[in-house]
Amino acid sequence: MKLIPFNKPYMTGQETKYIQEAVASGKISGDGNFTKKCHQFFEQKYGIKKALLTTSCTDALEMCAILLNILPGDEVIMPSYTFVSTSNAFVLRGAKIVFVDSSQEHPNLDVNQIESLITPKTKAIVVVHYAGVACDMDVVMALAEKYNLKVVEDAAQAIDSFYKGRPLGTIGHLAAFSFHETKNIISGEGGLLAINDLQFAARAEIIREKGTNRTAFFRGEVDKYGWVDIGSSFLPSEIIAAFLFAQLENLDQIQQRRKAIWARYHQKLQPLALKGIQLPALPSYATNNGHIYFMLCKNLEQRSELLAYLKEKGVYAVFHYLSLHSSPYFHQVHDGRPLTQSDEFTNTLLRLPLFYELTDQEVDYITDTLLQFFEE
Ligand SMILES: *Cc1c(COP(=O)(O)O)cnc(C)c1O
Repeated sequence: MKLIPFNKPYMTGQETKYIQEAVASGKISGDGNFTKKCHQFFEQKYGIKKALLTTSCTDALEMCAILLNILPGDEVIMPSYTFVSTSNAFVLRGAKIVFVDSSQEHPNLDVNQIESLITPKTKAIVVVHYAGVACDMDVVMALAEKYNLKVVEDAAQAIDSFYKGRPLGTIGHLAAFSFHETKNIISGEGGLLAINDLQFAARAEIIREKGTNRTAFFRGEVDKYGWVDIGSSFLPSEIIAAFLFAQLENLDQIQQRRKAIWARYHQKLQPLALKGIQLPALPSYATNNGHIYFMLCKNLEQRSELLAYLKEKGVYAVFHYLSLHSSPYFHQVHDGRPLTQSDEFTNTLLRLPLFYELTDQEVDYITDTLLQFFEE
């Protein structure tokens, strides 16, 4: 029996060639030619005002927390159904995390519940575009304007996806992307800080370079560099940037294939909608970037049985987040509000294999297996 993994990192073929070029150039630390090419790519293709590569999305989120001057006791509103880094980056600065429930239709936060959670201590709203599907950003940005808050987009999964025609990661004041090997565009580990409000640009360069003004020094703007602020080592080496650039050059082709796989799943699985299984619904303001194909089982028991059945047939499907408000680290701190939709996604969401090299025949095998399970 052929085994179908959940994910398989895709290489375009140019990665090692570009890494060799970087090595041959004699400059392999950060902010060399390949880093510049990656920055230009994001600024030109998506209109990000200033792009800065980081070593991970986690690091880009930590930079956001520093840039927003998050201090102990400041409140930050975000969904509970997300990856730990969304929250941890702000906890590191002493923030109090105020979790919002997911909406009924989608793991994304319910924008209608944000306003009642805003207090005089609220400093920021962090949205997560789960599966690359946009949150309703007009609502979020209007609240930010009304209460003078900053908005961070956790766009880890959201590359090449859009909200009312605008690229995700260009709408909030700041945004963070991931190039972890499980994402659409990869560099092993890697990330990007997108700065859309340029008041943050100069300080972001400093924070990313260990709290020094080395970046301005390399541009010849100051005659020596030194310690001017807090920071850390958030910039990746040229080896990472070289790998990433090879991926970016093939972004359209990668996206096209991933979206075709997503569409094939969606078409073949329509019969399940009649059997109480919820397939992903896209709001009219959002596009799909083929990051995740998920379905919602009736309950935890059904999902566990289905995962086991698929595994028996050689298909590695997986569940996803365990709500952060009930995590071992956070549950004592959480204010006790029930977040029932978030728990619902924790228990019922199942992700199917989705990677560039997944063939149509494999997709058909997976969907046939799923349909069989629900026949039995
Ligand atoms: C993958 C992911 C992250 C973390 O990205 P890294 O690059 O691994 O740090 C953060 N948030 C979300 C929503 C993610 O999916």
